[in-house]
Amino acid sequence: MSRTVLAVLNRPSNSAAPRDPAAPLFSFADPLRPQLNVQDLGVTRGDGIFESISVVRGIPHALEAHLARFTHSAEVLELPAPDLATWRQAIRAVVERLDPVAEGFVRAVLTRGVEGDARPTGWVFASVSTDHSVARTRGVRVVLLDRGLRHDVGRTSPWLLSGAKTLSYAVNRAALREAARRNADDVLFVSSDGFVLEGPTSSLIYLRDGQLRTPATESGILEGTTQGDAFQWARQRGLGTGFELLTPIELGHTDAAWLVSSGRLAVPIRVLDGRPHPVRADMTADLNGYLLTREASVG
Ligand code: PLP
Repeated sequence: MSRTVLAVLNRPSNSAAPRDPAAPLFSFADPLRPQLNVQDLGVTRGDGIFESISVVRGIPHALEAHLARFTHSAEVLELPAPDLATWRQAIRAVVERLDPVAEGFVRAVLTRGVEGDARPTGWVFASVSTDHSVARTRGVRVVLLDRGLRHDVGRTSPWLLSGAKTLSYAVNRAALREAARRNADDVLFVSSDGFVLEGPTSSLIYLRDGQLRTPATESGILEGTTQGDAFQWARQRGLGTGFELLTPIELGHTDAAWLVSSGRLAVPIRVLDGRPHPVRADMTADLNGYLLTREASVG
């Protein structure tokens, strides 16, 4: 048992040659020792994809939804399709060896591999999560930042890879530093034609006209697994759900809004662009309770 467990995949994709024909599907490796070739395109170009999967009391949450998005991201980047049976096995294996903690996460990474080698690189690691309980109860201050792209870039400019979870997160990290400069904790991106999109590491959901809603995914954003499960929660509670294009002014008039993601789960927005935003503590607690126990009986 340890606090970080790493497994390197020998054959991340069936359609590419294995790293070593004689080796098993994946091998555990020391997470404190270097494992990557410095010419790996995942490192030199951010040319690859990843998934972050939450682990609650030893159970990876929304695993199949994450694996489906992993496959979709590979398709969008024209990477060899991941061999999901191997990835599933490797994910479960690293989780089993992780310290028994209340909350952890698994990161699965697939890159285009070393330039000229034509073999993708893949690895998974499980680790212990930081404590998100304060953000979940207290909420976050969010600023709106222009992403500089129209909401329909997915259709007009597919080479921008919208909707894929790529390794190129430098822009998302820069946006969070800009939020800190503006005395905020997080960001919501807005399209250049004026629609609210998503956070740098989260989806937006909000309560409007008695329904739980989220920005339409054709607006060039990632389809969130947590947003999907939050909608399940809403339907179980008899709330309607919907997708729509929403302006920042309309967001300011919603009855509550949350950033949702696999790691933090549902975090209420308490300040939006410097103005207090209504928080529904009762709904937040109920939603997070649902998200934390959603797969307790599935395994
Ligand atoms: N949108 C972006 C850009 C993200 O990076 C993430 C998660 O990291 C999400 C949305 C939320 O996705 P999920 O709920 O599957 O974690």
